[in-house]
Amino acid sequence: MNRSLNTETTKQIGKEVRINGWVHARRNMGKIVFLDMRDMSSLIQVVVVPGELDEASKGIVDEIRPEFVLEITGVVQERGEKQKNPDLATGNVEILAKTIQIQGRSETPPFEIDKDSMSVNEDLRLKYRYLDLRTERMTKNIRNRDKVVKWFRNYLGDHGFVEIETPLLTVSSPEGARDYIVPSRLNLGKFYALPQAPQQYKQLLMVAGYERYFQMARCMRDEDTRGDRQPEFTQFDMEMSFMSQEDILQLTEEMFTKMVRELYPEKKIKTPWPRLSYAEAMKKYGSDKPDLREDKEDPNELAFAWIVDFPLFTKNKETGQIEPMHHMFTMPNEADLDKLDSAPLEIGGQLFDMVCNGYELSSGSIRINDSELQTKILNLIGIEGEEMKTKFGHMLEAFKYGAPPHGGIAPGIDRLMMILENEPSIREVMAFPKNSEGIEPMTGAPAELSAEQLSEVHIEVKKSK
Ligand code: ASP
Repeated sequence: MNRSLNTETTKQIGKEVRINGWVHARRNMGKIVFLDMRDMSSLIQVVVVPGELDEASKGIVDEIRPEFVLEITGVVQERGEKQKNPDLATGNVEILAKTIQIQGRSETPPFEIDKDSMSVNEDLRLKYRYLDLRTERMTKNIRNRDKVVKWFRNYLGDHGFVEIETPLLTVSSPEGARDYIVPSRLNLGKFYALPQAPQQYKQLLMVAGYERYFQMARCMRDEDTRGDRQPEFTQFDMEMSFMSQEDILQLTEEMFTKMVRELYPEKKIKTPWPRLSYAEAMKKYGSDKPDLREDKEDPNELAFAWIVDFPLFTKNKETGQIEPMHHMFTMPNEADLDKLDSAPLEIGGQLFDMVCNGYELSSGSIRINDSELQTKILNLIGIEGEEMKTKFGHMLEAFKYGAPPHGGIAPGIDRLMMILENEPSIREVMAFPKNSEGIEPMTGAPAELSAEQLSEVHIEVKKSK
């Protein structure tokens, strides 16, 4: 007999079916036992009446506990009018069990799977993440994340974008954080850096002529643990050639609005998204990521906005050094180019932020595509000579071989999902996050290495700091 998913049985009334899944709950009613069975589609109620079971199955009913994996065959019955449960996808049927087989036993889970795990100690949830991911809310979050990502993939595919993977083992590409580094066994004393963002590669793909690129890009940043930061996170990374800042804002706004309207019809989203200059946002709200919701208690209000007209540089308060507002690849406003030497802090840049409900979802910009101008900007922020050559020589060289005007944006998928699902933390919408100390309690990462492994990569660990 082929396996039926729980939801499929609603169309198989009167038929004998086979289902497989987990025991979500068990209720004893005298001799009769009710099992709520869970599979990837839904829950379903199974009625176990000893007289209906074959001999082999009768003997095991008492052993069955929550989270056991069972294979059950039985007959689908329509429930009586009063027993129908409109809140359940399978609420108009139940299965009268004929045979039951145990496919996997379960110890008593460290927390209850049939309840929301939000109040459970987070390290315990993360240690047993595979159990936590079984809970209804986590399942919904992870499955909805997949829907959103698929939706974006299809949309961009339909609009001429190609999805291209860029390397994880690479060199440092600064996005304002420290790099995670990976020692090279084959190249003594040399290290790869894990990407903070695929920024340079996506620009080089524009030089390569792909014109429209995207990637669900894993980004890694070694930052001090602060609130909701994760050492690795996902950006919906895009880059486009021959598109102005206005074109990029419009494409992104249309895509996000359409996605929300199709996948989250209950959400209220206003169009066009308001646009505020950086100066205006700071003056009016004291923040460059203002929360523009009318009713902050309304879980369905989404207040997207664009912050535009940023200065190209800021001054580091401690060192006094000029630093890029976003990153060093941002194109200055053409009208301000004559201020590069005289008044760099007064230069406006072609960069923007996308914000929603008080969170920064993305930054983006038009990029420099001229070797001379890029050199000038690098010099201004103190990157010169050999350092410039080793770190950015490939970019400066590439811009000498027909680099199109280009720009892009990279919305954070984790934050987006957190907002859409009304969750308090991005950890609630990631399958396997680290805890707030950067540790994964399940695998124990990060872990020590054996002396042999260390010696293979030419590393000696100092025991004290
Ligand atoms: N790479 C940038 C970031 O990670 C985003 C962009 O400019 O596309 O913030």
